[in-house]
Parts: sequence; C-alpha cells; structure tokens
Amino acid sequence: VLEVDGLTKRFGGLVAVDDFSLDVEQGEIVGLIGPNGSGKSTVFNCIMSIYDVTEGTIQFNGDAITDDKTHEIVNKGLSRVSQESNPIDLYPVAGNIKLFTLPNSIRSLRGGASDEEIYEYAARIDIEDKLQEMPDELPHADVRRLEIAKALATEPEMLLLDEPFAGMNQAEINELAGQIERFREEGMTIVVVDHNMGGLMNLVDRVVVLNNGEMLAAGSPEEIAENQRVQEAYLAGE
Ligand code: ATP
Ligand code: MG
Repeated sequence: VLEVDGLTKRFGGLVAVDDFSLDVEQGEIVGLIGPNGSGKSTVFNCIMSIYDVTEGTIQFNGDAITDDKTHEIVNKGLSRVSQESNPIDLYPVAGNIKLFTLPNSIRSLRGGASDEEIYEYAARIDIEDKLQEMPDELPHADVRRLEIAKALATEPEMLLLDEPFAGMNQAEINELAGQIERFREEGMTIVVVDHNMGGLMNLVDRVVVLNNGEMLAAGSPEEIAENQRVQEAYLAGE
C-alpha cells in the first residue's frame, strides 16, 4: 500500500532522515520506533508532504505522491495524527471533527459531514459521549482520541499515528491499542510511531527502528526487544 524508497531529508547540514525505505502491506500494523530526534516524525512529515523530500520517492496504492499537496494525499486515503494535539478550543469535539471533513471536495459542497457521520467517527474511537464537550476541558487521553477521530473523519484507508500513547497511563494505552486493533479489523493499514516498544509490543506485526535518521533494525517485536544494537542506541541517547 505504502512504499517509501530511499527517503532522505536534510535541514541545511543536518541529515534528519538518511536513505530510509519502508514497504507497508495492506492490513498490516507496523511500529516505527527510535530515540528522540531519530527522524520518526520527519518520515511522517515527508510522507504527508508537510516537508519537501530531499531525495527519494513515496508511493501510495501504486501512485507517486512525493510531489502531491497534503490535501491531495489525504483525499487519496492516507491520514496522519500528529505528535502534538491541536484542537480548536472555540469548538466542541463535534465541531472539531466536522472541520476535518471539509477538505473533502464533495462534502464541502454540502458543508461537511452530517451529525450522524460525526457520531460514527467519534464512536469508532469511543468518544461519542463527549461530542458536546470543549477540548480544553477534556483529559489528555480524550484529546488524543479527538485527534484520531479527526483523522477518521477523512475516511482513510491508511493511518499514520505519531506517538499516540504518549502521556497515557497503562489502562489508557491498553484501551487505545484495542481501538487501533479494531481499525485493522475494519480493513485499515496502520503505522504507529512510538519512542520505544512499550505500548507496541502486543499491537504491531513488525517493528522498524530508526537511529540518527537511518534504519538500524527491523523485525518482529520479540526480535527487536532482544536486539543488542537497538538497546545500545537507546542507551546512547540517554
Ligand atoms: P521525537 O521522539 O522527539 O519526536 P523524532 O524521532 O520524531 O523525535 P524528528 O522530529 O523527526 O525526530 O527530528 C529528527 C531531526 O530533524 C532532529 O534533529 C530535529 O531537530 C530535526 N528537525 C525536525 N524538523 C525540523 C525542522 N522543521 N527544521 C530543522 N530541523 C528539524
Ligand atoms: Mg517525533
């Protein structure tokens, strides 16, 4: 579904991502981990055309998206949840979700999603009982779920989740992991970024490890958990 080939991203003299390649198959859940600053978010920002790539190509469903604009990529069925939450505090949860249905050109003609559709998006991540609440009154885990609901509102085939578990307690992590597993059962393909293996161990089919912008290792969660070089990379980053 997604093919990243030879992706390099430089910021001036800094090589944030260095010749990184990744193939994700339909229905997979892939974990992308690495220490702080290893380039995880930059990979997502390049895929979504938030950043121009320095070198390399990106394909989605066999279609080159390297030079597409972000909204074109979203309309093709690829959506990303950022590491930072950015709800609009003036609107309740429902209004925040609705805003994300506007980039879809057909829907924007009739003013975005209907109330029923918004309820469905919220229900898929279990915040349908919070639709009238204001984002700044929600606990952190619900704000993160609102961010995921916004992405669901673009009706993606594939989701890129950047540190969805950050700042959550173990019960919240387990609940979110179950919800992500449900997305896969609904037919979605998913890449989940995390700082380490913690929340991913029982969720992902395989793990790719970034270090200093380069792929350090790839394998099953068990293989990566035991990989000596991966452990050293994390220790070096402390
Ligand atoms: P974290 O775990 O902290 O989220 P990360 O793996 O997501 O880290 P990135 O945010 O991708 O790492 O950053 C990789 C490198 O690229 C870092 O050195 C960062 O400072 C640099 N970088 C990222 N975005 C920019 C930018 N817009 N301008 C300049 N440098 C950037
Ligand atoms: Mg990041």
